[in-house]
Amino acid sequence: MGEIKRKVQTVEVNYICDKCSHGMVEKSGDMNPKTGETPHKCMICGHEQMFKWVAYPRIDYIGEDESL
Ligand SMILES: [Zn+2]
Repeated sequence: MGEIKRKVQTVEVNYICDKCSHGMVEKSGDMNPKTGETPHKCMICGHEQMFKWVAYPRIDYIGEDESL
């Protein structure tokens, strides 16, 4: 078996604040290497939210023929 390639498109993934439903959260500190918890803060209301093993905003790739 060898390499295969396919075209993909780049998407930005954001998370909308659970509290105000308007602002996007932004990573506000470093990931805890043991628990994976990463603090985030809403850019509008300042609500703090913890995510595990993921940070926002982030860049992801999907197949060219895949939809969001
Ligand atoms: Zn908010």
